[in-house]
Amino acid sequence: MQDVPLSTTLPDTATDSRLQLLSLIQAPLYLFDVEAFGIVWANESAIAYWDAASAEELYARDISTSASASVKLRVVQFKQTCFEKQQVVHEHWTVYPKGSPRGADFEIYPFTDNEGKKLLLMRIKDINPILDEDMAYRTTALTHTATMISAYSQELELVYTNTAAGKSMPVGLSNGRQRLVLQAELHAIVNALAVDGQHDAEAQVHTAKGIRWHALHVQRCTNPTTGKQMYLVTETDITEQVHAKEEAYRLAFTDSLTNLPNRAALSRQMDELVKTNPPAHFAILFLDLDRFKVINDSLGHAVGDQLLIDVAQRLRQALGEQGTVYRLGGDEFVMLTALSVEYNELKRIAEHVLAAMADPVMVSGHKLRVLPSIGISSSPSDGMEVSLIMENADAAMYIAKANQCGYCFYDAKMSSTITENVKDRMGLETDMVAAVKNDEFELYFQPKISGRTLAVDSVEALIRWNHPKRGMVPPDKFIGIAEETGQIIDLGNWVLRAAMKQQRLWQDQGLSVPVSVNISARQFSANDLLANVSDALKQTGCDPQMIELEITESMLIGEPDGVHATLQQLSAMGMRLALDDFGTGYSNLAYLQKYPLDCIKIDKIFLADRSRSMLMGTILSMGKVLGLQVVAEGVETATQADWLIAHGCDLLQGFYFSKPKPVAEVTQYLIDNGIPLKDDGRRVA
Ligand code: C2E
Ligand code: MG
Ligand code: MG
Repeated sequence: MQDVPLSTTLPDTATDSRLQLLSLIQAPLYLFDVEAFGIVWANESAIAYWDAASAEELYARDISTSASASVKLRVVQFKQTCFEKQQVVHEHWTVYPKGSPRGADFEIYPFTDNEGKKLLLMRIKDINPILDEDMAYRTTALTHTATMISAYSQELELVYTNTAAGKSMPVGLSNGRQRLVLQAELHAIVNALAVDGQHDAEAQVHTAKGIRWHALHVQRCTNPTTGKQMYLVTETDITEQVHAKEEAYRLAFTDSLTNLPNRAALSRQMDELVKTNPPAHFAILFLDLDRFKVINDSLGHAVGDQLLIDVAQRLRQALGEQGTVYRLGGDEFVMLTALSVEYNELKRIAEHVLAAMADPVMVSGHKLRVLPSIGISSSPSDGMEVSLIMENADAAMYIAKANQCGYCFYDAKMSSTITENVKDRMGLETDMVAAVKNDEFELYFQPKISGRTLAVDSVEALIRWNHPKRGMVPPDKFIGIAEETGQIIDLGNWVLRAAMKQQRLWQDQGLSVPVSVNISARQFSANDLLANVSDALKQTGCDPQMIELEITESMLIGEPDGVHATLQQLSAMGMRLALDDFGTGYSNLAYLQKYPLDCIKIDKIFLADRSRSMLMGTILSMGKVLGLQVVAEGVETATQADWLIAHGCDLLQGFYFSKPKPVAEVTQYLIDNGIPLKDDGRRVA
């Protein structure tokens, strides 16, 4: 449409032939003054459309107060487009002529009046009641949806917000650049839009409520009024989901007890390191606490947990900035360092860790001391696969544990036998879990012969493991492992019951034979030994006087608290106490007087090694002086037996008389040898 000049503020209908012409047109037409924000001329149809009483009433209407900011902004944009580009603008609006909403298509033309004032000539077109309703729904939806919808110009000026987005915008925000917390994210979005025209992102944004996480969908589109490119942004607040996801992620990689990163975190970290090119240099120190399971079993899980928390803290402190401590589970920890990979540095770390763990810790009134065994392996030198590096460190740890040397470096030259032993040990450790349940353990009994009468005096119960694949496994092979894993507690209780049950059975058969039972160090230090022993006595109905408990010197070393009381109580219950393997440890004679012992068993090494025979004589006479019964272990020959008998040894135990035997065989042996025999009638089993 052509722009025709007019002369008055209100267009002069009488002299402006253009307006006279426009009056004849059926469609509603009116002139709009953008600055005054009001209608300055309208034809009959438009007056009717706006439901005005007269033209004057329509011109006097204050539309400004009811129009939204975005409508006002848009009207200004229309004017610019119309006049600068000489373009007709098409717009679909909802208007409220009689208070009820109606959809209308507007055609907007530039119109300059006689005074040069630039007005907009609006033509209301195609009034469609169906669209009307549709538009009303759209408006309502935009007003009420929780989804934030906003539009930005090409220069990222904010040009539109729906109600939700308006509420979310921080005060004073006028440009999209101010919305995103990280400018890098803004660049990523803008770049992606240039390529794809749309982009989805999860980003931190500034909002009226502070910084929040929003899921953003940004779409490039054309501004319907200016024809320019613009960006339509749809946002939802996902702060809660992001936090929940972060928390789930954190939990997946954190050990809940100690708050250390867990096994999954270690695998992830090592995976990353081995995949770097060139291969990253790093080392792991694999730690396993030496007596943890015993503490856990005997003092309870609460104490065990507390101890682990303390250990975690000490390890973290000891390693400091040199790496990360992970808890794999149970009492296993790994330290990973990528900073200190030299042999001497790793050695220093290991020694520092051992020193840090040396002081006992007080947990619920218990003074506890747990030292770790540490296996060290490095990458790439000891392996470039995560599983291999772990396996090697684990193997080195087992060797450190077996040698009780604190720490050990993995060495590719480690003899295969050692590795085999380690594997063997690991295998036994796993198998033992099922073995107790599967009833694979059995007690053998070895007779002890009286030096005076040469009749059987008593028997010692010795455990055997009928392994389904390996056959008979001797106790030396598995007792140590059971001590470390803590399974000795269950196993020891089983032995106590089985031995007492058998004693009771023999008693009932008329064979009144005392039975000795070996008590392991861990079993002895467990809190509930007394309760377990008395339970076993009660359950089996065994006479305590027929039971002897064999303990070793190692349990007395350092005179730990409570040992004296425990021994006293066991003795008070009527049982005898023997000190096993005497002479192999400290052979501290003071123990013999201090504790309520009834018997000492001289270790077999004294008979095997001739140079010690002098000492053997001394121990024998000392035993007599202290009023203790003396047993010689490992009697293998008649000469040894003769010498012992001549020197007044009370009891003789060894293969010369009988090997440890299963119940049926030993029962027969008891029957055959239960009565005193003549000197020349010695029998060899
Ligand atoms: P120990 O208590 O000193 O038992 C004596 C060991 O010497 C037994 O070995 C026995 O078979 C062996 N022996 C007996 N006579 C001779 C001999 O004349 N010559 C030689 N060379 N050896 C002889 P075993 O049965 O293999 O047990 C080894 C150790 O395992 C035991 O030493 C004991 O410390 C431990 N053990 C055995 N059974 C149990 C158990 O039920 N509980 C605990 N805690 N430890 C046990
Ligand atoms: Mg013994
Ligand atoms: Mg012994």
